Amino acid sequence: MTTLDIAHEKPRSAPEAALARAPQGGLRPSLVGLTRPQLMDALAGFGLPEKQLRMRAGQIWNGIYNRGLTNFEGMTTLSKDLRQSLERAFDISRLEIVTEQKSVDGTRKWLLRLPSAVPGVPGPEIETVYIPEEGRGTLCISSQVGCTLTCTFCHTGTQKLVRNLTAGEIVGQILIARDALCEWPDGGRNSEDRLITNIVLMGMGEPLYNFDNVRDALEVVSDGEGISLSKRRITLSTSGVVPMIEKAGADIGCMLAISLHAVNDETRNKLVPLNKKYPIRELLDACRNYPGISNARRITFEYVMLKGVNDSIEDAKELVRLLKGIPAKINLIPFNPWPGSPYQCSDWAQIEKFSDFVNRAGYASPVRTPRGRDIMAACGQLKSETVKKRASERFRETRAEAEA
Ligand code: SAH
Ligand code: SF4
Repeated sequence: MTTLDIAHEKPRSAPEAALARAPQGGLRPSLVGLTRPQLMDALAGFGLPEKQLRMRAGQIWNGIYNRGLTNFEGMTTLSKDLRQSLERAFDISRLEIVTEQKSVDGTRKWLLRLPSAVPGVPGPEIETVYIPEEGRGTLCISSQVGCTLTCTFCHTGTQKLVRNLTAGEIVGQILIARDALCEWPDGGRNSEDRLITNIVLMGMGEPLYNFDNVRDALEVVSDGEGISLSKRRITLSTSGVVPMIEKAGADIGCMLAISLHAVNDETRNKLVPLNKKYPIRELLDACRNYPGISNARRITFEYVMLKGVNDSIEDAKELVRLLKGIPAKINLIPFNPWPGSPYQCSDWAQIEKFSDFVNRAGYASPVRTPRGRDIMAACGQLKSETVKKRASERFRETRAEAEA
C-alpha cells in the first residue's frame, strides 16, 4: 500500500468516516485561506495520518496558491482516490463573480458574491479593484461587507449590512484577480513579471475590526511558497483603531496607512467619528510605537481633501507639526463624491498649494489620481499613484484627463 492510497486503507477508513460527517452540497468547508497549521489540522480531522500531514498540506497548498486550481482533480501528486475523497469533503472553488468591469484606464473592478448564510437569499456582495500603473499593479481588497464605522465622507460607511469576511474570502479576492490577469505560473508568467505587485486593504471595511481573519489571510498571501507577496508590499489602512495598531505591527508586520483626514479633534470627530474614542494624540502615539517603523518603512497618512473643511494652509502647517518625528508619507486624496455626500472636493489649486507646502516640509505627498471613475471603482477605493512630479504637472494631467 502506498501512502497515496490512504482512502483505501480500510473499508471504512478514517477519511471515509470524516466524509460521512462532512456536510455535502455547497456547504463543504473551504480550505482556501487556511494557514499551513490550520490546513494540517483540517487534514488531520479528515483522517490523514500524522506523518503525512506536512507533505499533503504542501501538495494542496501548491495546487491552490501556485497553480490556481479550483478543484482537486488536477492535483496529480495525490492518488485518484484521495483526490476524490478530498473533493467530496472540501471546497477550493472561487467566490462567485457577479460582474467584472474594465475602465478605459485599465482599472478593473469585480463585484463578488459571498456564500449566503440563508438558503434562498443571495449572499452579500463585495468589491475588489485592480489598478495597473507603470511598473506596478495594485490590488485593493475588502475586509468586511460594509463597515460599522460611519465616516461621513465614505460611501461604505453608509452601508448597513456588515459581516466580517473569512480569511478565505479575503484571499479569494486575490485568486480571482490572478485568474482574470492570467497570473498563474501555468499561464506562462514567472514571478519577475507579476501583474499584482502590491496589495492594499483599502476596499470595504475596517481591517482592524476583523483582525484574526486579516492576519491569517496575509500570512497565506505572504507565504514564500505560494502567492509570495512580501509584507512590505502589503498595506493595511485603518481609520485608527488604536488598541489594535501595535498588535498589527507585531502579529502581521505589514505596512500601515492611517486615515487621518483632519488635524484637530473637533474636525476629525465629525469626519471619522471613531476619533471620539481614540483621539489624534493617542493615534499618533500608537504610530510612533508601531513595531518596525523606520525611514525605510514609513507610515502613510491618508488625507482626503474636503473643500473648506480640512484643506487650508493652516491645516497643512498643523499636519506637518503633528507628524514631526514620525517616519511618514502623506497621501492627499481628492474627495470622491457619491450621491448624497455632504462634501465637495477641494479645488485643484488648493490641493496643489497644500501639497506643495507639505512637500517643502520634507514629506513625499503624492496626490491620488482617481482611477476607474467610469466604472465607479474610485468610490472610497482610491489608490495612490506614486507620482513624484510637481503638483502642477499632476494638476495639468488630471485636468487634461477630465477634459478628454
Ligand atoms: N476602513 C479603512 C480602509 C478602507 S477605506 C480606512 O478607513 O482606512 C480606504 C481609504 O479611502 C481611507 O483612507 C478612506 O478614508 C478613503 N475614502 C473613503 N471614502 C472616500 C471618498 N469618498 N473619497 C476619498 N477617499 C475616501
Ligand atoms: Fe469604514 Fe474606512 Fe469608510 Fe470609515 S473610511 S466608514 S472606517 S471603510
